[in-house]
Amino acid sequence: MKAIRVNEFGGPEVLKVQSVPDPRPDRGQVLVRVKAVGVNPVDTYIRSGAYARKPSLLYTPGMDAGGVVEAVGPDVKRFKAGDRVYTNGTITGAAAELAVCEQSRVHPLPPKISFAQGAALGVPYGTAYRSLFQRGHAQPGETVLVHGASGGVGTACVQLARAAGLMVIGSAGTDKGRSLVLEEGAHHVVDHRAPDYVDRIMTIAEGRGVDLIMEMLANVNLAKDLTMLAAGGRVVVIGNRGAIEINPREAMAREAAILGVMLWGATEAELAGIHSALVAGLENGTLRPIIGYELPLAEAPRAHQRVLEPGAYGKIVLIP
Ligand code: NAP
Repeated sequence: MKAIRVNEFGGPEVLKVQSVPDPRPDRGQVLVRVKAVGVNPVDTYIRSGAYARKPSLLYTPGMDAGGVVEAVGPDVKRFKAGDRVYTNGTITGAAAELAVCEQSRVHPLPPKISFAQGAALGVPYGTAYRSLFQRGHAQPGETVLVHGASGGVGTACVQLARAAGLMVIGSAGTDKGRSLVLEEGAHHVVDHRAPDYVDRIMTIAEGRGVDLIMEMLANVNLAKDLTMLAAGGRVVVIGNRGAIEINPREAMAREAAILGVMLWGATEAELAGIHSALVAGLENGTLRPIIGYELPLAEAPRAHQRVLEPGAYGKIVLIP
């Protein structure tokens, strides 16, 4: 089969298409014929060698795929050849024509959800669900600011929060991104590059502030975030690319909490809960992953560049 292989950590150019032997599923494993692969920012951190969790070289990147079960290991009963599925983790790497997964990382893909949409679920929707509900304890009637609502995690947060009965404010840096955020269910949208965006959010929140912030770029925004929180508010730090100075008094005065989220920190039981909820949302139509860009597998280097550029629009996927 063809797969993306990484021989050395480095820039996007280290992603190369190579022919490798077809993998085979062992006990408890599922072999998936990959139809689409999700590209996440974390794939670029891992590829660069800068990430704390490094795979040993050679490796095939990618965790999230949409595809069809090709074969199952001897004791696997939950899936059979021909089932449409999505994955939230693989053993052999998702950026390939075939991927072997533990059966716990494979989930049914409802008929109306495309393979590309299936590739947009594992990391983005898994993170959004964990951030909103397992870490942020979002409640119906609360107000949430999805700070960075135009990308993979942000659009997922908007759809999940809207379906759960929150008042949703989203932010994006482009007109196209802001239109998308409104289409996906935000009640209000702001430009996170506008100098007065904090005032706009405080006006929308009627001076009281927001209960929850889903933060995609904490090293830029955390100090301002604390000033926008209502009493008892929570900031969930999802994305962060550096250090920032904050005034802890802002948290003290509001009895606010700053909560980190790390998808890898979810237990097996929490992951099972996340994916049960996501499959239900896909089935009832409240979750509709947005695919901004589809590129052929060989253009993985371009996808790794694009996912870090401004002007996000849903998800970038690779098609083997
Ligand atoms: P993405 O699709 O590339 O989206 C990035 C988002 O950040 C876009 O909405 C972008 O908006 C927004 N953004 C850019 N500048 C911003 C600013 N100044 N203030 C607020 N938002 C800003 O990436 P993603 O997959 O959604 O991931 C988002 C972040 O979460 C990444 O840093 C990723 O590494 C991290 N993440 C963490 C976990 C975890 O377990 N903690 C899991 C998944 C992802 P515009 O492009 O419209 O400006």
